[in-house]
Amino acid sequence: MDWKNLNADVNKILNTHYTSGRSGRKINKIIIHYNAGDLTVEGCYSVWQNRPASAHYQVESSGRIGQLVWDSDTAWHASNWEANCSSIGIEHANKEGGYISEACLDAGAHLVAALCKYYGLGRPQWKVNVFPHNHFAATSCPGRLQDEQRDAYMQKAQQWYDQMMNGAESPSTPSTGNSNKKSSEEVAREVVAGKWGNGADRKNRLTSAGYNYDVVQAKVDEKLYGSKPGKSNEAIAKEVIAGNWGNGADRKARLTAAGYNYDAIQSIVNSLCK
Ligand SMILES: [Zn+2]
Repeated sequence: MDWKNLNADVNKILNTHYTSGRSGRKINKIIIHYNAGDLTVEGCYSVWQNRPASAHYQVESSGRIGQLVWDSDTAWHASNWEANCSSIGIEHANKEGGYISEACLDAGAHLVAALCKYYGLGRPQWKVNVFPHNHFAATSCPGRLQDEQRDAYMQKAQQWYDQMMNGAESPSTPSTGNSNKKSSEEVAREVVAGKWGNGADRKNRLTSAGYNYDVVQAKVDEKLYGSKPGKSNEAIAKEVIAGNWGNGADRKARLTAAGYNYDAIQSIVNSLCK
C-alpha cells in the first residue's frame, strides 16, 4: 500500500453496483464496516457481483488492502444515499467471533489516517470524521469495531495520522511484513536531513536497519554534490571552515549568491567540525 498516494496493494475495480461520480458532493467522512466473514479482496469482488452493494476498500485479515471502487465514485455501503455520496467506505475482514486481526486493525487504521490526510479531513475522531456503519442505518455493522476494538482502532488511526503529518513515513509501532522498509531514495533524503548521523555511525545504523549503505550513500552524494557550480560542496565546506566565506547570514548570502547549496555545505561543515 502506498499510503501517501493511496495506491492499494491490489486494484480489483467493480464494473457494477456503484455510481459514477459523487453527485456534486465532497468527501467529508469515512465509514467503517466489517465483513461478518473473513473475505479477501477477490472474495468481496465476487460477492458484490451479485449483491447490489460495494465499498471503496477491503482490508483483509492479512493486512492486504484492495480497492474495489475508485474514491472519486460513489460506493453503495452506508444504506444511506447522502452518506454514500460524501464518504469513503472501508470494509474489514473479521475472524471468529467477529474479531478483527491485529494486521487488519493496523492496516485499516493506517488507511483511515492516510485518507484523512489526503482529503484534509483532520485528525481521525470517532463520529466526527470516522463513523460506524450503524450511525446511518440499523445494522450490527461494524461489529467489534464499534465496541471492544474501537478504541484500539481509533488510537492507531490517530497515531498513524500524527506520524504522517509529521513527515515520518515509518511507524514507531511494529507492523506486518516489509511495509516499514523505505526506498533508498527516502532514506537518502533522511540522511541529508541529518537523521542518520555521519561517517561510521551512519554506516552502522543504516546497515543494522537493513539498508544497503553504498546504495543510499551514492544517492546522498548525488543530492549533495549533484548540481554544483565549480567546486564540490566538500571543497567549499573546507573553505568555509578556513574562514573564506564569513559567518551566519553573511555566509549564507554569499554561498547562495555564488550558486552553492548552503544547507548541503553547512551540513558538511557541521560534520567536519565535530
Ligand atoms: Zn457495513
